[in-house]
This record gives sequence, C-alpha cells and structure tokens, in this order.
Amino acid sequence: MDHLQQHFLDRCFLCKKAFAAGDDMYMYRGDAPFCSEGCRKEQMDTDAAEERMRNKQRKKKMMRRRMMMMSASTEEEKSSNSSIFSSDEKLVFVS
Ligand SMILES: [Zn+2]
Repeated sequence: MDHLQQHFLDRCFLCKKAFAAGDDMYMYRGDAPFCSEGCRKEQMDTDAAEERMRNKQRKKKMMRRRMMMMSASTEEEKSSNSSIFSSDEKLVFVS
C-alpha cells in the first residue's frame, strides 16, 4: 500500500501525467497529487459519486455475505471473499 502511494506521487492521480520539476501540484486529501485544478475537481466529483455508490454497495455486500455463510458451498464462499477484499483495497486507496 505504501509504495503504491509513493509511486503515484510523481504523476497526476487522475490523468497520470508525470510531473516535471517545478510543475504545480494540486494536493487532495493529503495523498493524491493533481496536475491542475481541473483534474482535482474531477476527482472530487468522482469521489462524491463513489461515496454514494460505496454506501449502497456496502449494504449489498453484507447481505450477500450473510447468504454465503448460510450456503454449504465452500467454493462459492472463497471466490466471494476474494472479490470483497480486492474491491475494499481499491476503495481504501481512492480515499
Ligand atoms: Zn491531470
């Protein structure tokens, strides 16, 4: 997680444009750099939309997990858990 964030600090979080020495950097939430106010604004809008999505998805996942625990199939539970973890990691990184 840490080295991923450091790697991202040398390029715009949104459009991935690499920063050159002396370029302006627009920070957002303390760990996401942007090449312009426009890029940062777009990320803020995306975050606001994702925040609403996240709240919806979290409810869905909890219900799905409960159903998986009741089901007898271990195979299904495994694949369900791995998909939950990978999307959680992504969410943590974005915020
Ligand atoms: Zn940019």
